[in-house]
Amino acid sequence: MLDALLLSFGDELALGQIVDTNAAWLAQQLSAHGLLAAEHRCIHDDRAAIARAFSEAAGRARVVVASGGLGPTEDDLTRAALADALGEELVEDAAAFEWIAAYFTGRGKPVPPQNRTQARRPHSASMLANACGTAPGLMARLGGAQVFVLPGVPREMRAMFAGEVAPRLPPPQAGAAFIATGMLHSFGMAESEMGERLRDLMARGRNPTVGTNVSGGQCAVRVRAVAADRQTAEQQVAQALDEAEKKLGKEFVFGRNGTSLAQAAIFRLQLEKATLATAESLTGGGLGAALTGVPGASDAYAGGFVTYTDALKTAILGVPEHLLRRHGAVSEPVACAMAEGALEKTGADYALSTTGIAGPGGGSEATPVGTVWIGLAKRGMPVLAKKFVFLGTREEVRERAVWAALQMLRNAP
Ligand code: ATP
Repeated sequence: MLDALLLSFGDELALGQIVDTNAAWLAQQLSAHGLLAAEHRCIHDDRAAIARAFSEAAGRARVVVASGGLGPTEDDLTRAALADALGEELVEDAAAFEWIAAYFTGRGKPVPPQNRTQARRPHSASMLANACGTAPGLMARLGGAQVFVLPGVPREMRAMFAGEVAPRLPPPQAGAAFIATGMLHSFGMAESEMGERLRDLMARGRNPTVGTNVSGGQCAVRVRAVAADRQTAEQQVAQALDEAEKKLGKEFVFGRNGTSLAQAAIFRLQLEKATLATAESLTGGGLGAALTGVPGASDAYAGGFVTYTDALKTAILGVPEHLLRRHGAVSEPVACAMAEGALEKTGADYALSTTGIAGPGGGSEATPVGTVWIGLAKRGMPVLAKKFVFLGTREEVRERAVWAALQMLRNAP
């Protein structure tokens, strides 16, 4: 018998108009409970097909978790299909109706008749409370399986899983393997170089397994350990992450398990109780946007300037005209002068500057498209700038410039 099967319902999914992020999230949650979601199926809006999928899944797994189609509209067929699979009628659940009615009257609105259908459940099923919407979930015993049905809206689905499903999950089967996973995030080292440095850890047939994958210009190391119990699996993952980090170097690895480069940069500033200002040209505010995307950034990020033209670089940041004339805007002296100007104007402890050629036009032999200079000024230290040449589209060059700047700050002396 399989541990768990996942079902996702909806034409949008079957037609590929949206991606099934619910299944990915649920699979992670189940694996954290020691249950492997061995198969994920997506079924279009067809009552008979959904009923069949319930019956087949319940015949093969101990737990079935489904999402979608609990809403009040015509294409929300999941309740009726589950009733078909159970061979039962739908009945109105008095408590659920009261709850739905209170939801609307509490907002000063009459209960729309369609929403009354959401209070219906197969006779033997019970309702699962929805903390963030009107559609209650369903729980039923079908054959030997425990079936949970959750709303499709990801926010509602997650809240209901955490509050109503997780506490009711069966324990892992005796002798079942527990899977733990972890990730390291890096920027600035080519994937081939990472593969070289991690060669031993990545050897086939090892437990934990270690792999790399590139997304945009960042590279993640993924670790997956299988052990008889959760603690051992988690220890193996932590150990492999430590080893991988040592082999790659802290200069490149900026975080674990979903940490962003901006978070890592803000974290360094917070540790030092220091502040940062930015002076941006080719990134046009992208660096500021990344930094302000981090909750609590305000104690570390003072603010910045977008100075796109030469004239504004001079007027706002005091970049000397002769430097622009002599070296051009995409140059070491200008990147340094921009960072110094931002430091002076704001009184921050650090300043980062970006200047470069994002393309597709504007490159030359000496300064090809993708050339970026990043300046870093720190109070009491000589200003410095570093040159990068990024490959890719205009957007990719601009994004990589933001990451390179954040990485430079993380690694500031
Ligand atoms: P509600 O009653 O709150 O509308 P529902 O159960 O009827 O919930 P659906 O109508 O199936 O949910 O889906 C609502 C929206 O939730 C979809 O338009 C889609 O944006 C999102 N959604 C549904 N299923 C998934 C999924 N598997 N992965 C990601 N998003 C999903």
